[in-house]
Amino acid sequence: MKKHLAAQIKLRAPTICRGEDLPFLNCGDGWYQLIADMMDELEPMAHEMKRLYGKEPKLAWVETHHATMQVVMDDIGKDMDAVIERYEEASESVCENCGQPGRPQGKWIEILCDDCFTD
Ligand SMILES: [Zn+2]
Repeated sequence: MKKHLAAQIKLRAPTICRGEDLPFLNCGDGWYQLIADMMDELEPMAHEMKRLYGKEPKLAWVETHHATMQVVMDDIGKDMDAVIERYEEASESVCENCGQPGRPQGKWIEILCDDCFTD
């Protein structure tokens, strides 16, 4: 994902994406909105986790794994895990390139819309 998009994600979720570096988002720009929406849900949950249980959820990375978005986060609970799982599933129908509705396409299966899929 492009650096300026990763920077936007960090701004949206300063607790989850804390640290010097930009969050490591090793996937296509088309999943930006998915990640942004997911962070909007997770960031307040992370604050609650810290307040209630002293946990400090932190994003390790996001990557494309078997054509699906995989989110790896440390120190989370079941409720945050459920949110992540929902977005990971949602990625299976969002074009990784442009964010339009997509589906698994090609020999090296990727989630793409018909416009982005060029065989
Ligand atoms: Zn597309």
